[in-house]
Amino acid sequence: GLIGPGALALAFSAGLAQAAVDNVAQRVEQLLAQMTLEEKVGQLNQLSGKEFTGPATDKVRSMEAEIRSGHVGSMLNIKGVADTRRLQALALQSRLRIPLLFGLDVIHGYQTVFPVPLGESASWDLEAIEESARIAAREAAASGIHWTFAPMVDVGRDPRWGRVMEGAGEDSYLGARIAEARVRGFQGARLGGVESVMATAKHFAGYGASVAGRDYNAVDMSDQQLHETYLPPFKAALDAGAATFMNAFNTLNGIPATGHAGLQRDILKGAWGFKGFVVSDWGSVREMVVHGYADDLADAAAKALNAGSDMDMESNAFSSSLVAQVRAGKVALAQVDDAVRRVLTKKFELGLFDDPYRFSSAAREQAALSDPRHAQAARRVAAKSIVLLKNEGGALPLRRGLRSIAVVGPLADARRDLEGGWIVKSNADKMASLVDAVREAAGPGTRVSYAPGCDVACRGANGFEAALRAARDADTVVLAVGESWDMSGEAKSRADIKLPGRQDELFAALRAIGKTPVVVVMAGRPLIFERLAEEAPAILYAWFPGSEGGRAVADVLFGDVTPSAKLPMTFPRNMGQVPISYQQYETGRPVRDVNNIVYKSAYIDSPNTPRYAFGHGLSYTSFGYRDLRLSSNSMRADGKITLSFTLANTGKRAGAEVAQLYLRDPVASVVRPVKELKGFQRIALQPGEQRQVSFTIDRETLSFFDRKLAWTAEPGKFELMVGSASDDIRLRQTIELAP
Ligand code: BGC
Repeated sequence: GLIGPGALALAFSAGLAQAAVDNVAQRVEQLLAQMTLEEKVGQLNQLSGKEFTGPATDKVRSMEAEIRSGHVGSMLNIKGVADTRRLQALALQSRLRIPLLFGLDVIHGYQTVFPVPLGESASWDLEAIEESARIAAREAAASGIHWTFAPMVDVGRDPRWGRVMEGAGEDSYLGARIAEARVRGFQGARLGGVESVMATAKHFAGYGASVAGRDYNAVDMSDQQLHETYLPPFKAALDAGAATFMNAFNTLNGIPATGHAGLQRDILKGAWGFKGFVVSDWGSVREMVVHGYADDLADAAAKALNAGSDMDMESNAFSSSLVAQVRAGKVALAQVDDAVRRVLTKKFELGLFDDPYRFSSAAREQAALSDPRHAQAARRVAAKSIVLLKNEGGALPLRRGLRSIAVVGPLADARRDLEGGWIVKSNADKMASLVDAVREAAGPGTRVSYAPGCDVACRGANGFEAALRAARDADTVVLAVGESWDMSGEAKSRADIKLPGRQDELFAALRAIGKTPVVVVMAGRPLIFERLAEEAPAILYAWFPGSEGGRAVADVLFGDVTPSAKLPMTFPRNMGQVPISYQQYETGRPVRDVNNIVYKSAYIDSPNTPRYAFGHGLSYTSFGYRDLRLSSNSMRADGKITLSFTLANTGKRAGAEVAQLYLRDPVASVVRPVKELKGFQRIALQPGEQRQVSFTIDRETLSFFDRKLAWTAEPGKFELMVGSASDDIRLRQTIELAP
């Protein structure tokens, strides 16, 4: 008989749950054996449901008919229990009653908005990051969502690319650890769990390296770069159990990622043994025609499926032509079956055949979306994400009991901008802006005034006078500048990443009346703000901090939270330095050669050093590093060395330090970067408290991707560096890998 929801509900009540889990493969085969080719192709077809929220047009009616006839396997952009249940009911009218998968971009929260992923990554706090993904999953799952198109694990080294906002920054080691944390958070212990949504490792692969930081642009890179820098976060996501992958819009060395068999079949499903399924990116199958890689939609469908793309997001390429392409012998039925198996397996693992509504209900949705603990967590995580870039003369934290504070600047009273891009639903009307939060935090004794000065575009100085008036009477001035929420994200590449408009002139105008404002910057990417970096006494980089972001910034401003975040991306001084990463290579023309002659690989009009280095971030307290010890100075390939040192809070406030371990392999068969991150730990210490911190070095730590395209560790010397930032190394030692 049919393996439908009814039969399975019976199996459950008979106490066969575990057996059902074990029998997923068998159930998939039984179902597959009953499917027509059209029904199989239907499982690989994902439609966008934006239309379903509007009036019942002809298009909506025809999509509903497609669902009822079993020609749709998944929907994206449907949200909320009411709509997901309504459409699921249609799918259950299809011949085989195969439930739909509902996917959505739950990127940094569902109802509760956490900091944008790049900001959250600045916390270097894997537990906090995992918790934020878990809360997003809890809210989304309660609303009938099965699958989030996150995490984006693309390494991004070019801040012109607006999508750096969605990632974990420039480093592949940090990116890999964060990828694991996010996958664990979204998926929980198992896909069938009540609070679990499937994760998507995206965009496979190379998308972050588009030429000149222009979104969707071509990518050309060596195998070395690909394997060593861009793929490790994907591999880490896979090892953490990521149920799905999404391919990418870009070409990689001339082949569209969506049609790239080398990436999808050889690496992902071959060498890495990925058992989940690959969804194409929005319309990326269709775009292969525009790239000049496929003749037409039918050819694109065949090329995508043959290359290992399993599900077609929104191109209508599979649905319109795969059946014919199989009949014409352009696509093997076995390949279609393999793709369908992968999709069905996830539907079984999610428990959709047991409960096609997957525990979602109006009551659960309501409870999950109004849980006050979620907002508290968002505030905690946001405060951990705010980077103290600069703090001179104890400008921060602000003292309580001031007579008056002026909060000025285009982002001072922003709400929507705090949330950033890729949100499911804005909470702006209920949120506290920075001005609101400063009022709350400062208490009734302090008068808080506000004037924006200008808007984010800041084309004119008309509003400056009001801001200056507010500032003139105030004991302290806080200036909030940056990008608006829609300046970072997909299709938001910027040719120049300076602070928009004349915002820095507003700062200069404040200085001209003798005020030195403390600066808060909000943005989805590193910005260039040289005048402020030189002249402001203190700068907090808050990113887009989320729905509790106003309060989180106030927590840090007043010192209720000691800042502990560290930059996950290098901040350049000027556009000419872009792209810039701490992972530089030594040139044959270093700044000084051995005879002390200056043969520079340098600019004649700019320093080589960035404005703020990867890993940089200050605290209100200070940390001392001492007593580096090694369990041994040398190891064999199968051995280990433990490095340990003492970290002490040498200041007067409680705080947390992210201690970073870097490595250099000074001589190798492939030249190595001057520094590579190999470990980090976030340690909270009370004033005067100290702790022994240790890192383990093994073969993997010492490995790189060699010319034969394999991971290898070459015998010889290695330099270990421990510090507070990539440009603030406190302890060093050399070890040796024995032959
Ligand atoms: C983006 C993906 C996203 C998809 C669905 C695409 O344009 O590149 O990251 O998941 O749309 O919204």
